[in-house]
Amino acid sequence: MQTITVLGSTGSIGVSTLDVLARHPQRYRVFALTAHERVAELAQQCRRFAPRYAVVATDTGAAELRALLAGEDLPTEVLSGAEGLCRVAADPGVDAVMAAIVGAAGLRPTLAAVEAGKKVLLANKEALVMAGPVFLRALAASAAQLLPIDSEHNAIFQCLPQPCADLEAAGVDRILLTGSGGPFRTRAVDDLRRVTPDEACAHPNWSMGRKISVDSATMMNKGLEFIEACLLFNARPDQIEVVVHPQSIVHSMVQYRDGSLLAQMGNPDMRTPIAHALSFPERIDSGVAALDLIAQGRLDFESPDMERFPCLRLAREAMDAGGSAPTALNAANEVAVDAFLQGRLAFTSIAAVIERVMKMVEPVELTGLDAVETADRNARNLAREVLGAL
Ligand code: NAD
Ligand code: MG
Repeated sequence: MQTITVLGSTGSIGVSTLDVLARHPQRYRVFALTAHERVAELAQQCRRFAPRYAVVATDTGAAELRALLAGEDLPTEVLSGAEGLCRVAADPGVDAVMAAIVGAAGLRPTLAAVEAGKKVLLANKEALVMAGPVFLRALAASAAQLLPIDSEHNAIFQCLPQPCADLEAAGVDRILLTGSGGPFRTRAVDDLRRVTPDEACAHPNWSMGRKISVDSATMMNKGLEFIEACLLFNARPDQIEVVVHPQSIVHSMVQYRDGSLLAQMGNPDMRTPIAHALSFPERIDSGVAALDLIAQGRLDFESPDMERFPCLRLAREAMDAGGSAPTALNAANEVAVDAFLQGRLAFTSIAAVIERVMKMVEPVELTGLDAVETADRNARNLAREVLGAL
């Protein structure tokens, strides 16, 4: 029996994780659930999974959750804030932590799980991208095991021998990181200025939270994933190629020296990588139907359009610049996407804001968590200034 903390249990990944866990009550027990604001939904999850802890953002939210659960026979203690998140991520009673908070807010609890030597299932790519070397040093210094949940990185993991410390030694020539191209792959570039948040969030193949949906529409998601892949697989930027694959059936590929190209395929449903990482190296039922290749009929591949998707270039440049450049990229992106979702910024200005911030920041070495948080804060302030000036 493994005990699991699900950070961000009310989100898209959180709900998919609970769906997989509920299929295997004899294998997994939920230790803690956490949500930012959707307290009523978290209360429902507590009734269903009877966790030891539930964590919400504020004391007010915690009081609300306690009131909702009052009089019910549950073992659930309610905690709040970042402190509560770190506590349920690192508690000696937890075996595995699903890191599924969106954005920089997930960094501290995810690092707490790493430092406590947990099995860490990483969906929260922003945490890894913003803290790169700090995150990797914490991982190397602990007994933690990091398993990728992002479908592409989970696919690459599945196509590599395990463990794989050195791509060259494993005979790998290249990693092919696939991406659908999002909802605007073929939309006239002149129309992109006017797209609405709802249009940007209507992904053709995946149902996801709003922030990552916008990232998919700008292809910043692929940019963040490019950096994520460099970090997770100890890859040089020139060892990774982005390939557009509109059907999202091939989740990524590894090209070997002998001409072999290994791909991991499946229906686009995050329960597959979640089940894979939860049970690795075993395999369990995820609830995802087997892929029907005959019904699928065809698979297409093309090069990304770097002019349509400037965020891809910005991410590559941040990776090349190194140090705190990816931290600044992620922070500026979070601020710009938030402004777009609130109707304060045009879709095409997301990349423009990030580009201006990247021109203003001087990358510094990421010596520790403080340096990460300072770089994050500075880039957010710059992004807000740029937004104000637009
Ligand atoms: P979501 O918006 O649906 O859910 C986010 C979760 O985080 C919610 O439970 C929310 O309550 C919590 N949260 C938000 N802000 C918080 C804060 N400040 N403090 C504490 N908790 C907070 O997002 P999602 O689509 O589930 O994505 C989660 C993460 O997984 C993201 O990093 C995303 O990039 C990554 N990811 C998602 C998918 C997907 O299919 N949804 C695929 C790959 C990777
Ligand atoms: Mg992905």
